[in-house]
Amino acid sequence: MSEKQTLVDAFGRRVTNLRISLTDRCNFRCVYCMPPEGVPLLAKSRYLSVDEITRFVSVIGRLGVTRVRLTGGEPLLRKEVVEIVDSLRRVDSVYELSMTTNGSMLASLATPLKKAGLDRLNISLDSLEPERFRRVTLYSQFGRVRSGIDAALAEGFPVKLNVVVLHGISTNEIIDFARMASDHNIEVRFLEFMPLCGTGWRPDLVYPIGRVREIIEQRFDLQELPRDDKPAQTFSIAGGGGKVGFIAPLSEPFCENCSRIRISADGRIRPCLFSDYEVSIGDLLRTHASEERLVAAIRYAVANKPRGSQFADEPFTSGRRDSEVSMGPNIRSIGG
Ligand code: SAM
Ligand code: SF4
Repeated sequence: MSEKQTLVDAFGRRVTNLRISLTDRCNFRCVYCMPPEGVPLLAKSRYLSVDEITRFVSVIGRLGVTRVRLTGGEPLLRKEVVEIVDSLRRVDSVYELSMTTNGSMLASLATPLKKAGLDRLNISLDSLEPERFRRVTLYSQFGRVRSGIDAALAEGFPVKLNVVVLHGISTNEIIDFARMASDHNIEVRFLEFMPLCGTGWRPDLVYPIGRVREIIEQRFDLQELPRDDKPAQTFSIAGGGGKVGFIAPLSEPFCENCSRIRISADGRIRPCLFSDYEVSIGDLLRTHASEERLVAAIRYAVANKPRGSQFADEPFTSGRRDSEVSMGPNIRSIGG
């Protein structure tokens, strides 16, 4: 692959993964993600259209970005979600098309998403007990999420469950989740709580992922799998099926091998989740700018991808959601 067809940042990391936020709205209020009253929202008219998202993915695909994940907010709230999957599936460069969802609407959407060509699903499930689930998400939708997971498995989707481990809330379910991975031959990934989004810094909720791993290792025989550029350190569980993964951006940062960038629902490229730095490409897409201009903006964003590891040294201070982040002057000059 020639240099022209790749995206490499200032630290030599090649960008191959894109996360697209389809909406900033959500039907849950997870304690670690959104305040109960919600957050200021974008006007839906600012969202990138299906065609704009597809064009962006085609252009960045020609620069070597082949893995695309749809996320949010809650991506299944976006009314064109199936249409978006269908459209992105037709982009030749898209090698893998996946989604991260809270699963609450999957019971009815798993089949159309599968038909449209979605490859895999990560579903968030922070507790196996309905009352504890309500404490974390603030909504009593445990049954709907479980039905959503069943529907996804019935459709044959490879499913990973995302579990944010919260000190004093979910720590006593770690073994139950590992057993679930083994019994159902799925991957359960334990996420360390990150001080992001609308909740600010809550050290009381952080439970180091190393301790989660130790607890599981006391009961299960784990065999480490190659990590490559993945954020999760993943292990197969010996003697049965299933895998467990550990994601620890705070205590074990993986920035060194990060291959991702993100784009918000209204078209702001965020090269790093832990930095407010962004380049808006929304207006370029809305005004049908040339591919050359789009590529220049994408390369500019990637060139400014922060090294990232300062997160480990200085805990994140912003706490701002992407709908609140202001655009700096350099961003306006590129996006306008
Ligand atoms: N609404 C979808 C969902 O919950 O799966 C997709 C968006 S959500 C922001 C993506 C993932 O980030 C979820 O697995 C969620 O648990 C995780 N997440 C959100 N806030 C987090 C935080 N402060 N610390 C750790 N993980 C977090
Ligand atoms: Fe919504 Fe996902 Fe955030 Fe929970 S983690 S509030 S489901 S966006």
